[in-house]
Amino acid sequence: MSFKLEKLLRPHIATLQAYTSARDEYTGKEGTFLDANENPFGSITDQDFNRYPDPYQAELKQKIAEIKEVKPSQIFLGNGSDEAIDLLFRAFCNPGKDNVILLPPTYGMYEVSASINDVEVRKVPLTADFQLRTDKILNEVDKHTKIIFICSPNNPSGNKVNREEILYLLKKFKGLVVVDEAYSDFSDEPSFTTELKNFKNLLVMQTFSKAWGLASLRLGMAFASKDLIKILNRIKPPYNISGLTQETVLAAMGNYEKVKAMVKDILTEREFLKTKLESLDFVNKIYPSDANFLLVKMPNANLVYDELIDQKVIVRNRSKVILCEDCLRITVGTRAENEHLIEALSKIFSSKK
Ligand code: PMP
Repeated sequence: MSFKLEKLLRPHIATLQAYTSARDEYTGKEGTFLDANENPFGSITDQDFNRYPDPYQAELKQKIAEIKEVKPSQIFLGNGSDEAIDLLFRAFCNPGKDNVILLPPTYGMYEVSASINDVEVRKVPLTADFQLRTDKILNEVDKHTKIIFICSPNNPSGNKVNREEILYLLKKFKGLVVVDEAYSDFSDEPSFTTELKNFKNLLVMQTFSKAWGLASLRLGMAFASKDLIKILNRIKPPYNISGLTQETVLAAMGNYEKVKAMVKDILTEREFLKTKLESLDFVNKIYPSDANFLLVKMPNANLVYDELIDQKVIVRNRSKVILCEDCLRITVGTRAENEHLIEALSKIFSSKK
């Protein structure tokens, strides 16, 4: 199935005159910079932040490219992956005309971004074990379908999505297939970035918010063909990644061993939490997880959620979400946090006996 990026793009984006700054014309580090109306005297903080940051994040992308084994030109960096999601709608989906396909239960921002951008959502629920219904998905496609969002490992179920079925959709669908790998660091499954050379309609998202422990900095990655990345770069706000974020993450890239160690600890804790939850007779089901959280089914989850809050234990209530009835999504915490949760749950259920 041939894929034509320019056919998918909204026409006015194809001809858009993108914003350029004076630093696009002069990229040297030394000079007398009187082009950007900055404060020449410095900042009110100890560290100076008075100069605008690199709008293309060249140094950081160079480092990310080495770790992720892609070219810098295949990387888009956003203010969280949430920014990449929004920009995809703005680049490809004509409001009131185009549609996207979502596979619930899944990450909530795809639908919120679609609504903000006035884009129709077509929902094809996953199977009971949270896998794709590929033929049903393809049946929903019409000439206005621009994007299919797949989350793997999936949030909130935690499982990885069957690779062969994602590849099948990539082959059959003429629009964009987004594979959101926010949780892939917790899984053995190889990243779909290895498929970028085979599919021009593939965009893979990852984030620094989970395994890297940098949620507060807001840094998300999108990997795709050079041409697709060029489009996202043209429509993003010019300085979307702060200088502080660029510098901090660049310095942290040398610490990849620490990320691996933290992931190992989280996986150990995931196993501990799972074993403890299994030992509680009121827990009906713990779904298999390739992520840093567990989806857990129990009676009256809605009520349990409120009672956990009374004990200052905050989890995510998914009990009203399709296929997640009576389920709570529990992030894997430290040993002390996990023990606190188990204690709080035991208290709630022993009072009900
Ligand atoms: N994708 C998924 C599947 C997520 O669960 C989340 C955050 N919960 C994100 C993307 C957003 O990540 P970021 O912090 O990079 O915006």
